[in-house]
Amino acid sequence: MARAYNFNAGPAAIPLEVLQQAQEQFVDYHGAGMSIMEMSHRSPLYEGVNNEAQTLMRELFGIPDNYKVLFLQGGASTQFAMLPMNLLRPGHPAAYVQTGAWADKAIKEAKLIGDTVIAASTASDSFMRMPSLSEIEVPAGASYLHLTSNETIGGTQFHEFPSTGDVPLIADMSSDILSRPIDISQFGAIYAGAQKNLGPSGVTVVIIREDLVKEGSKSIPAMFRYETHAKADSLYNTPPSFAVYMVTLVLKWIKARGGVAQMEQYNRDKTKLIYDAIDQSGGYYRGCAQPQSRSLMNITFRLGNEELEKQFIKESEQLGFVGLKGHRDVGGLRASTYNAVPLESCQALTQFMTDFQKRNG
Ligand code: PMP
Repeated sequence: MARAYNFNAGPAAIPLEVLQQAQEQFVDYHGAGMSIMEMSHRSPLYEGVNNEAQTLMRELFGIPDNYKVLFLQGGASTQFAMLPMNLLRPGHPAAYVQTGAWADKAIKEAKLIGDTVIAASTASDSFMRMPSLSEIEVPAGASYLHLTSNETIGGTQFHEFPSTGDVPLIADMSSDILSRPIDISQFGAIYAGAQKNLGPSGVTVVIIREDLVKEGSKSIPAMFRYETHAKADSLYNTPPSFAVYMVTLVLKWIKARGGVAQMEQYNRDKTKLIYDAIDQSGGYYRGCAQPQSRSLMNITFRLGNEELEKQFIKESEQLGFVGLKGHRDVGGLRASTYNAVPLESCQALTQFMTDFQKRNG
């Protein structure tokens, strides 16, 4: 069986071992005579999955006891709205760090709910870098400060996070959750769609400090209140059970490979290969993100002209590479190197880049 060199931005590669395990358990989950998708979410077997997903998240990501871990639906895009609906208090604007397409979407939604301020912006650098910590102005009394830890489209990533004092720091970690160790206690809340580093689409993880759950607005519909889901242990309504189950398999896979610190090292090794190929090409390949903001998850780069980029994508596809086309809003090329993308895929890409340059340089 040939597996593609999968560099998709999301949904993205899932470890082969995880897929195989899911296949083994697909028709008959633990002797139940049915798949996980067919059983009640109130059954002991599914409750086991729900608990395990939470326990493993806590263990692997080092989540303190005073945080809730929620498995919700609606993607990170729903969190763009749910977050301000719960936490944006009248008279206390929400501060946003504007770093690219995803931050912009979060800002747009928050503006529908209440007052927002821009705490820092890299728009004038075409979002090709993250702001330094000293550029970020946290207004006193803000409801929260929101940032996007990794901009999936631009290929930029925060490598350190601002201290925000009493103002809760909130991060959209959709494209780099569990790719590196994080001090969770710096954050009021973290959210991420699962479809890049955690498993399939359909489930969104929210990690949120208990006091923020309690403080959340009560005058919003039940499904949009963090408190509803926290009280019900993510089983208020029918959860995306198959997706949560897949997340548990991915978390076990990360654990078996040594945990999140090992993942980070692996991701560094993988991305170094590709960034080196860019930097050592004598300008044939040009990295988009400024070096200090380069992402370990999405490597964005360009060739001399769009014709050549089309040629690159065409030839790469013929050789089994998938997903190297840049996001439609920005063009160019992008290799997404999430946790589950094997080193071998990155080696193959580096080789292809060198060969392509030789043929077309
Ligand atoms: N934030 C970031 C950083 C993303 O990369 C994405 C999806 N690519 C989203 C939010 C939106 O996620 P979803 O499609 O799960 O709503």
